[in-house]
Amino acid sequence: MLKFLKDIIAPKKCYSCNKEWHFLCIKCLSMMSNFDSICYVCKGKSNNFDVHEKCLWDVYYDKVIILSHYKNKVISKLIKDFKFYGRKDIWEDFGIYLTNMFFDNEVYKNTDNYIILYPPMWFFKSLKRWYNHSKFLAKVISTETWIKLENTMLKKVRQTWQQSKLSRQERLNNLQDSFKIHKNKIDNIDKKIFIVIDDVISTGSTLNEISRVLKHAWAKKVIWLIVASD
Ligand SMILES: [Zn+2]
Ligand SMILES: [Zn+2]
Repeated sequence: MLKFLKDIIAPKKCYSCNKEWHFLCIKCLSMMSNFDSICYVCKGKSNNFDVHEKCLWDVYYDKVIILSHYKNKVISKLIKDFKFYGRKDIWEDFGIYLTNMFFDNEVYKNTDNYIILYPPMWFFKSLKRWYNHSKFLAKVISTETWIKLENTMLKKVRQTWQQSKLSRQERLNNLQDSFKIHKNKIDNIDKKIFIVIDDVISTGSTLNEISRVLKHAWAKKVIWLIVASD
């Protein structure tokens, strides 16, 4: 209880340098081996994190913007505290940094052309966990960018197993048809650019499966904004 009160009253401090105001100050963030602007498919250099034209044939996403590496100890500690202790102010910081990354890497014209989403949880899992942390991140980014957040457009229709424990073929089968677009929303997708927000990625399969569902409903472009990748 005391620790809880202390956490509330204590000012935000940078996890890395102890400077007050942010959980991760801009200076420390910029010093941490940030992701270079690469194509997520071939990991080669690319402008603004765009997937190369030659790499697009195999995947459905167009751009994957990643803030940092999960193997960085400060980043992984922040994400852990954010996930398990529900530190709201941490995702606010991450949300603002991700928003800046988005503006730096996307020629952004009309807010109405964009929609923000996050990977949905399976209904029964969401009952057990009661919150989806990517949803909170998405809310912050929606407030910062004025882009509409859609909470019910994408749904997870069945349970899937943890991807990291499966072989490549099992992974693909595992995710097949696990995400669907809500039938009332399907007409809102045509020619829209989607920004999908996630905290951590370890495999590209979920990324691709959600992007595939959107592209099949005629999404113009799918951009992923992610806090950390390993
Ligand atoms: Zn710092
Ligand atoms: Zn490439």
